Amino acid sequence: MTIIAFIGLGNMGGPMAANLVKAGHSVSGFDLSPASCDQARSDGVTIAGSTIDAVRDAEIVVTMLPAGKHVLAVWADILPSVKESTLLIDCSTIDVESARKVHALAREQGRNLASLDAPVSGGVGGAKGATLTFMTGGTKDAFDRAEPILSRMGKKVVHCGEAGAGQAAKICNNMILGISMIGVAEAFVLGEKLGLSHQALFDVASTSSGQCWSLTTYCPVPGPVPASPANNGYKPGFAAALMLKDLKLAQEAALASGAPTPLGAEAAQLYALFNNAGHEGDDFSGIINFIRGRKD
Ligand code: NAD
Repeated sequence: MTIIAFIGLGNMGGPMAANLVKAGHSVSGFDLSPASCDQARSDGVTIAGSTIDAVRDAEIVVTMLPAGKHVLAVWADILPSVKESTLLIDCSTIDVESARKVHALAREQGRNLASLDAPVSGGVGGAKGATLTFMTGGTKDAFDRAEPILSRMGKKVVHCGEAGAGQAAKICNNMILGISMIGVAEAFVLGEKLGLSHQALFDVASTSSGQCWSLTTYCPVPGPVPASPANNGYKPGFAAALMLKDLKLAQEAALASGAPTPLGAEAAQLYALFNNAGHEGDDFSGIINFIRGRKD
């Protein structure tokens, strides 16, 4: 049994913390939202009075927060109160620069605390079912200590490299996802104009060189893949607001590093328009309806 503190018990963090309890660990948690705390308490998490109270005895601290500024603020708050041997793991999706700053914070004031960035793929379903993929950045020692804990919340844990490498892998992967979903959606819309049935295009592309996850797992038209959100009124799934967040992070990183990503930029713009049209809460595959409705 490991003593774990879990800060941020929202849609993702709540079920992740619950899975650590199920695995037999002692989990103390904190969230600013009383509703999230109530749910976590009913899942067996001991709710602390503050972030600092939650982490005091922890061997491992996990944070699962909305964005870089929240992670930086929470880590700055808790670091002076954690034990010298504590390992800190941030599972939030944040920008690479903040991720590196967060690692640097853990090394400040002569404390040299072990830290790992470990964002996830797999969504709320993966968090509930403990089938997430973790992509991690940090030292090999930190990875080796974290792996047995992360593997109770996911099915795959990859060490991508040094500090920030997990966040880098996450935004690169999700940039592929955003671009490929738009590509698949455009192909279905063109197929419609050419009189091609959805099933015919799916049967060909899913076994040809157009094959990809956006087509075969998350098909944006109803029918060919019964479990895709298109069959359920485009309920997420993976909300368009989160896709936009990740595409913006990819663009920030591209600008900072000088990488040319013209299709990533185009995808970010299209998802911004889709979000602004009131679709933030729709699944990101709903972009097909937006594309179909455009006149240009
Ligand atoms: P969420 O908004 O449901 O949860 C975040 C929680 O953090 C909230 O409950 C909020 O009250 C809490 N919080 C904020 N500031 C805090 C503070 N100072 N102290 C304590 N608690 C604080 O968001 P989520 O969907 O759980 O996502 C969390 C992270 O995971 C995000 O970075 C997101 O991009 C990433 N992510 C989400 C998904 C998804 O499908 N939801 C998938 C992959 C990655």
